[in-house]
Amino acid sequence: MQIINTILNMKNLVVTAQQNNKSVALVPTMGSLHSGHGSLIELAKKSCDFVIVSIFVNPLQFNVESDLLNYPRNLEKDALFCQNLGVDIIFAPSVIEMYPNGNINAIISINNLDKNLCGRTRPGHFTGVCSVVGKLFNIVSPNMAFFGKKDIQQFRIIETMVDDLNFSVKVIGGETIRDEDGLALSSRNVHLSRKGREVSVLVPQLLEHILSLIKAGLYDVKDLLEKGLDFLKKSSCSAEFEGISIKLDYLEIVDYKNLQLLEKVSGKFIIATAIFIDNTRLIDNLIYQV
Ligand code: AMP
Repeated sequence: MQIINTILNMKNLVVTAQQNNKSVALVPTMGSLHSGHGSLIELAKKSCDFVIVSIFVNPLQFNVESDLLNYPRNLEKDALFCQNLGVDIIFAPSVIEMYPNGNINAIISINNLDKNLCGRTRPGHFTGVCSVVGKLFNIVSPNMAFFGKKDIQQFRIIETMVDDLNFSVKVIGGETIRDEDGLALSSRNVHLSRKGREVSVLVPQLLEHILSLIKAGLYDVKDLLEKGLDFLKKSSCSAEFEGISIKLDYLEIVDYKNLQLLEKVSGKFIIATAIFIDNTRLIDNLIYQV
């Protein structure tokens, strides 16, 4: 496995792989890799001959400076993780390599799909995501690219970007990988205190609670969200969660395809939430069809 830091070297290696008729997979990440990333790498290994994992903490997609500065980074550990999974190349460019002028003038922005969920509470986030993913697609020219459905809005937006702008890449979504208690794996989980980690189980429990109401026949979204908030309030008042701050960023139910808010649950939909446990923002979602 090689670790490549420059765009030129990365492009040359891809040309060689393609001249040797190898299919190329890209797994874009921000590093601090865990089994969620690992499951995407395994999917990539099964589907393509040459697997590239990019590790780049993209400043363009952070709208809070301290979040960018505190984002966990551990290239050495990540390299070992990738090597064990049979990755061919880690592409780990510096910020200067990706944005030599300090920023980029040409950006990819998205209409409508970023109006709700994380797009509403993190303005500019998805422009940053699309722009860097667009750059990575042009640098790596992958046949296939792998994204986790844990970041469901990101996944749907990238799928749409690829369709609308005719990128020659097949986008594949991987299922959310969870810890035993149900918490979705995330690089940010390392920021949680022991108590905060225990409390975090509330996040998937909230989604499961709403889903159970839907399965029982309650389809009115306003009612469902009210009941979800009640559940959250009751849980956060319980003694075992004392001393940990639980702040809801959003709780929404949207249509799977266009990510617009639903009034009544129907067809394929997403229940999604973002919750700050102490200062750590955790996101999660469930996809379901009625
Ligand atoms: P990140 O490093 O957080 O930007 O994530 C890189 C990729 O891994 C994204 O496509 C994420 O959706 C995906 N990912 C992160 N956590 C998980 C998880 N728990 N299960 C599946 N995919 C994940």
